[in-house]
This record gives sequence, structure tokens and C-alpha cells, in this order.
Amino acid sequence: MRVVCPHCLSVNNIPQKESYKKANCGKCKNSLLDTHPIELTNSNFDEVVVNSDIPVIVDFWAPWCGPCKMMAPNFTKAATNFPLKALFVKVNTENEQHLGARFGIRSIPTLILFKDGKELHRQSGALSEEQLNLLVKQFL
Ligand SMILES: [Zn+2]
Repeated sequence: MRVVCPHCLSVNNIPQKESYKKANCGKCKNSLLDTHPIELTNSNFDEVVVNSDIPVIVDFWAPWCGPCKMMAPNFTKAATNFPLKALFVKVNTENEQHLGARFGIRSIPTLILFKDGKELHRQSGALSEEQLNLLVKQFL
């Protein structure tokens, strides 16, 4: 399956397994298990979403949004719970207005979950780490 390296964004092809003890990026050699949200822009968004065989959950946020700031640490923590199972992505809608418009983001934070490049789920409002875990588990 194809996964995008959270460090250098290159696409890795790895065998699909229940769990992984070790998996390193073929390009930058960093661990693919060391997951953290990656910030995407208009220029790399499609490439990352289309080249991920695992679900991609996108947090559309903005620096001026209080609930977004509240959710940010929860999103970062939740990302560590799904190494090679789900990819956590952030889009700053203030900088990436084109992406916000393209997905019709009216309120933030809005979460959209993509699988095989298709939108499967969206919801607005800040979530706790537990709520994020439950949401992502539905799509694994
Ligand atoms: Zn890498």
C-alpha cells in the first residue's frame, strides 16, 4: 500500500500489516511510524490525498480561530495513535484560501475524511482526542 512520509512527503510502498515494529521512509530514512499532522498547501494537497491508500483526515483551521487552537493538541495526539493506518493533515485556510473555497469550508474547524481521494465524511466543530480516535476508527 502507498503511504506518504510525514517527514518528506514522498510516497512509500509498504506491505499492508496489522501492526508495524519498524518502517522507514525509503527517501529520508525517518520512521514512518513517527506520525504527526502534516501541513499541506494548495500545491501538494492533491498529490498527498490521491497517493495515500490509508484514510486521510484533514483539519481545516485558521490561526485566528479559538476552537481550532483548542483542538490542535488533540489532533496531534490522535495522529500518534494511527501510524500507517491514517494520515493526519492540516490545512491553514487563511493561507490556502483556494482549498477552503474548493471544499466549501464555511466554518472552522471542519474535518474532512478522504479515502481513495474521495470525501467520505465531514463535520465541523472541535473534537477531543477520544472523539477523533472514534471518528477515524470508523473508516479503517
Ligand atoms: Zn521521508
